[in-house]
Amino acid sequence: MRRRFTVAFSIYLLIIASSFSVSRVSSLSTASSTYRTRNVFLVVMDGVRYSETFGDPAHRFIPHLWNDLRPLGAIYTNFRNNAITVTVPGHTAMLTGVWQNVKNDGSERPHQPTVFEYYRKETGAPANKTWVVVQHMNLISTDYSDDPEYGKQYGANLDSPGLHKRGELEHTGDVATWDILKSVMNRDHPSLVMVNFGMTDSMGHSGSWAGYANAILDADTLIYYLWLKIQSDPVYKDKTTMFVTNDHGRHLDGVKTGFQDHGDDCEGCRHVMMLVTGPDTKSNVVVDTARQLIAVAPTIGALMRFSTPLAKGNVMSDMLAGNTQEPLSKTLSSEIILLVAAITLLGSLLFIFMFAERKRKHIARAKLQCESGSPGVIVTQKSYTERIPESEKFN
Ligand SMILES: [Zn+2]
Ligand SMILES: [Zn+2]
Ligand SMILES: [Zn+2]
Repeated sequence: MRRRFTVAFSIYLLIIASSFSVSRVSSLSTASSTYRTRNVFLVVMDGVRYSETFGDPAHRFIPHLWNDLRPLGAIYTNFRNNAITVTVPGHTAMLTGVWQNVKNDGSERPHQPTVFEYYRKETGAPANKTWVVVQHMNLISTDYSDDPEYGKQYGANLDSPGLHKRGELEHTGDVATWDILKSVMNRDHPSLVMVNFGMTDSMGHSGSWAGYANAILDADTLIYYLWLKIQSDPVYKDKTTMFVTNDHGRHLDGVKTGFQDHGDDCEGCRHVMMLVTGPDTKSNVVVDTARQLIAVAPTIGALMRFSTPLAKGNVMSDMLAGNTQEPLSKTLSSEIILLVAAITLLGSLLFIFMFAERKRKHIARAKLQCESGSPGVIVTQKSYTERIPESEKFN
């Protein structure tokens, strides 16, 4: 009797294990199709050191990023530019998922496809659904690559304050970039945007610490305004993921000219910030896993459900919430569900029968314990709309 029980119990365990592995494989393979993200904004605060962002214990220059946006999303404390720590290669690495040694003067395009090209080629999205808005003029060739299979026909629209005539824009610098971005959003509602706030880098090069610090404060405010605008627009609200990062850092104090320049492999140039907010992102999470700029392109692709076949980076899965998949019934085909349910039911009945039989015969000496699993924990994502004041409106 005891042997029969053991055999039956083993078969039952085997059945349960196999049904779990079926559902696991199935949900993994369909996870990428169940993200709620429909739009991505990649926001680059150009050339800011980690010591002035997350690495500053007082977070003096990024009050909005730290106090308002960080609780809504995930931050990375070990995000890196592991190749060329200058502007165009840094942006290119993010947009293509490949480290590329392209010139920093805007005369050379990426040689691997950008996320704009992957997205448009795969989905048929029109050009005005992808936008590059940049303060730094040397980024004007990042809107598409020279890959013959992709290229201009799948490229993004591009604008920069530097492409406008004098007096045509109301403001200058990053505020002009913000003005352009707002009008692009209002007019086209693009799905995939890269925006570069470049005054941080320019003021760093000027050698004025106050200028550099104020430029970070301004970019911090503009990025917060961007998130408020996203969350106040029904096209974007709760369907948009925002990445906020740097293309590179700057030299550590004591390395060459310190904060004034960048471009080598010192820790100050390599270490950058990364903040991600959106419907598929864990909230109030700190990730200390080492990640690098080339992870951005494949992560955008995963969130927006297009492939990035030539990208080398890994998807930043550590910041993705586990509660973004559709209910199991939608991720499994109905046949598999029925099969798994039937097998589980039969196994359970068999087990209950054998268990009852055993209990009846050995009740006198056996003290039976019924082990029950802990109930599934339902993770509810903290709403990131609750912090936004009702008075904030951006049209
Ligand atoms: Zn830069
Ligand atoms: Zn620079
Ligand atoms: Zn350096």
